[in-house]
Amino acid sequence: MAIQFLKPNCPKCRGTNVVPIVYAEMDSNLRQEVAAGRAIVGGNFYEEGNPDWVCKTCQFKWID
Ligand SMILES: [Zn+2]
Repeated sequence: MAIQFLKPNCPKCRGTNVVPIVYAEMDSNLRQEVAAGRAIVGGNFYEEGNPDWVCKTCQFKWID
């Protein structure tokens, strides 16, 4: 199962090299997504105020 999101552009540099930050326990599917560069893991649990996206160009993180 691939993680599918409508990707925004980075609000800081307008770049498109943006990946979702996933809050979940690592499993084999998630490991594949991370290994392929399609997601990063922010932690096991989502907490209020955690960012949803990270720009791989400028490392900016933001809440959608
Ligand atoms: Zn950026």
